[in-house]
Amino acid sequence: MENSRPQVRPTAEGWTQKLGPDGRPSLQFASPKRGKPPVHLADLTVEQRRERMTELGLPAFRAAQLSTHYFTHYTADPAQMTDLPAAGREELVAGMLPPLLTEVRRLATDKGDTIKFLWKLHDGALVESVLMRYPGRITLCVSSQAGCGMNCPFCATGQAGLTRNMSTAEIVDQVVRANRAIAEGELGAPEHDNERVTNIVFMGMGEPLANYARVMDAVRTMVAPQPDGLGMSARHITVSTVGLVPAIQKLANEKIPVTFALSLHAPDDELRDELIPVNSRWKVDEALDAARAYFEATGRRVSIEYALIKDMNDHAWRADLLAAKLNERGRGWVHVNPIPLNPTPGSIWTSSEPAVMREFVRRLEEAGIPTTLRDTRGKEIDGACGQLAAADA
Ligand code: SAH
Repeated sequence: MENSRPQVRPTAEGWTQKLGPDGRPSLQFASPKRGKPPVHLADLTVEQRRERMTELGLPAFRAAQLSTHYFTHYTADPAQMTDLPAAGREELVAGMLPPLLTEVRRLATDKGDTIKFLWKLHDGALVESVLMRYPGRITLCVSSQAGCGMNCPFCATGQAGLTRNMSTAEIVDQVVRANRAIAEGELGAPEHDNERVTNIVFMGMGEPLANYARVMDAVRTMVAPQPDGLGMSARHITVSTVGLVPAIQKLANEKIPVTFALSLHAPDDELRDELIPVNSRWKVDEALDAARAYFEATGRRVSIEYALIKDMNDHAWRADLLAAKLNERGRGWVHVNPIPLNPTPGSIWTSSEPAVMREFVRRLEEAGIPTTLRDTRGKEIDGACGQLAAADA
């Protein structure tokens, strides 16, 4: 019965996938050159922030005052910074905390536990972040690039190509702005005082490892204790990648134990070549070896992301092959997060049937692989995984 199910091939529907000179889906690693966003406090190291103050003829401790306002009170409003001298305060704040993200639109679910923000950057590029309340934690899905150059045919962001890399401060400011919204009670009734974002997933727009240096600087600022940074725990930050193997190896050597997620979506190169165009560079086995090495270097259990697409990658034999490839590399180092596909507008692909998903999960579990079917929070506001697009409609 299983074998009688059809094999749907991942062809682009309702849009045209960009192809390279070799006729394969094009990959864009380098960011197009565009005007850089203004330099912001969150772009600088603690030392650089102090140097900046000295250059401006101010005492170095002003840097810590500004940082406290920004990273602890989530404000860039000079009127609230009464500990700074009134003379020159506006100019200082305008220079150190320039506005980076202009809110274009905000959509919330009926229950109010999910908010999607659409932000405009200084050059008009659009990015989104999604804020989600769960019992005991608040997760923010952040963007790391405007658009994405990885060209995955099932992902709304990929269909639009790469506009540019985001700066460190543009990445960090998404968290600060979300914390501000939470403090203002926008995410519904708080569970306790001083609630803020506890978990970050780099699963918004962009391929984080294609914007490596800025993403890592943002992570360092997220984990730096307040007021130098946001005082978050590295293990609550998830960096998700299509599988840029050299960058995964670099990440493993950073000594920042973030949670690592690999967007695999197929255990066989034949299908993954078409589903994840970067598989033309780094094959399934290479990506899994790099993921395993990440576990060895950090002790952090790795996540495998797997969007279940009807009749495309949800066959029982693929669950078995995935389990075999993971078990081949040891036990206890990995778990699998299948997620029902969120179809992009116009797509003929759909999510797998519930019974097929259950069977996929059952087979992995039977093979000893911890597996958690993920929810598709935010679907009704187009805020679910893979639905983030720069459409200002
Ligand atoms: N570029 C990174 C992070 C952004 S995407 C990466 O690929 O991992 C975050 C996750 O959403 C990835 O696992 C991605 O494959 C998945 N995703 C993309 N489009 C999706 C869709 N239409 N339905 C479900 N998941 C999707």
